[in-house]
Amino acid sequence: MCGVFGIYDPPGDHDRDVARLTYFGLYALQHRGQESAGIAVSDGTRVMAMKDMGLVSQVFDEPRLSGLSGHMAIGHARYSTTGSTVWQNAQPIVRHSQHGAIALGHNGNLTNTSELRSELRERRVRLESTSDTEVIAALIAQHPSDDLADAVADTMADVEGAFAAVVLSERALAGFRDPDGIRPLVVGRLDDAWVLASESCALDLIGARLERELRPGELVVIDEQGARFRQAVDRNGGSLCIFEFIYFARPDSTMEGEALHDARRRMGARLAEEAPAEADVVIGVPDSGTPAAVGYAGRSGIPYGEGLVKNRYVGRTFIQPDQGLRDRGVKLKFNALRTVLEGRRVVVVDDTIVRGSTTRQLVQLLFEAGATEVHLRVSAPPIVSPCFYGIDMADQGQLIAAGRSIEEVRQRLGATSLSYLSLEGLTDATNRPAGSFCRACLTGEYPTEIPTDLRLSKLRFEAHPVEAG
Ligand code: SF4
Repeated sequence: MCGVFGIYDPPGDHDRDVARLTYFGLYALQHRGQESAGIAVSDGTRVMAMKDMGLVSQVFDEPRLSGLSGHMAIGHARYSTTGSTVWQNAQPIVRHSQHGAIALGHNGNLTNTSELRSELRERRVRLESTSDTEVIAALIAQHPSDDLADAVADTMADVEGAFAAVVLSERALAGFRDPDGIRPLVVGRLDDAWVLASESCALDLIGARLERELRPGELVVIDEQGARFRQAVDRNGGSLCIFEFIYFARPDSTMEGEALHDARRRMGARLAEEAPAEADVVIGVPDSGTPAAVGYAGRSGIPYGEGLVKNRYVGRTFIQPDQGLRDRGVKLKFNALRTVLEGRRVVVVDDTIVRGSTTRQLVQLLFEAGATEVHLRVSAPPIVSPCFYGIDMADQGQLIAAGRSIEEVRQRLGATSLSYLSLEGLTDATNRPAGSFCRACLTGEYPTEIPTDLRLSKLRFEAHPVEAG
């Protein structure tokens, strides 16, 4: 996943603390990545960056933030999909060139990285990390023009796959989106300042208003002359990742003009129509399954209850639990409320099942808390193909629904019954046409070409299905 943020505050009499605003922007985007966080600032003459492993609040404190001064900044919260979890892969990535330094933060995944890496190697460009983000940064930094807009536009034409990115040079801030618009990026205003963010909830937190979404293939460059938008590469229609609607993005964000909380409620309501159950209570898997559970309860007439309590402070723990706890890892995240569940037939609504190991433990937890039946309802269709666009969905062999019938999946999960929302039901609930979305992991139809080597690396069934994760 990953969250990106950028702000340009025209120098003037009311200078804003852009590093602090970026910190809060990242704080709102923390759900998109918890492995590392970083902020880069520029004061018009020099780019300075600070990044480290951990949550935004672990990486930054007052002294670190006050060391970052300038009138423009970018920030990044990372979840690793390409390249391992090491400091070198933390972002923003800084590259130096004959024109000065640039810093870049990227959400997405390129599909032609190996080709681009070899081209850069042939040009004797050194790469220090394994991330595809450094490839984008290197292409921009190596560009002969000192005009950031030209350098980014040409780079956008060279890279393939999913990218929503923010770039900072000494004099300008830029934001750009891939021609399919797979990953989101919004533009906002905070009085005369310009703000870029993965999601609108980051604008809300700092008091900025949503101007619009950056269009697929569009580039915006903001400097002392203002903001200039340009269609840098032809748009291929638009294929926003449908999982942004289902659960990645925060429910208080809007995308494609739709409030995501409302869309998720509609998914739950549709699920109740498509897959009714005889039950006493509907519960959601917090937090992301809650809106769909409320929608299911409303449409089915079965009372809604809170049967699971989430430990909100799990984050990314660096302390590995012992084997016993690991086997019951779900207990680190959830506890079941016996008073809601005991002696009841329960519908539990979740937004997705990837590998299934957590879901299986969750079903067991509900039975242990006294549920007499556990009817599992999923507000998305089965995930049957891997994602090549920046979502850590695992290899195809690890996907519980790939190559199995729903009944086989139900047996593995131990639920009384199992139903998924249909693809049509999901799309209807978004209120957007099917053509607005990437739904490749649900259909196996990818909006971009996937090179064979990449395809083969993930499209395989393992001899022994992996249960961990
Ligand atoms: S393959 Fe699935 S997870 Fe990946 S971008 Fe497309 S819809 Fe999203």
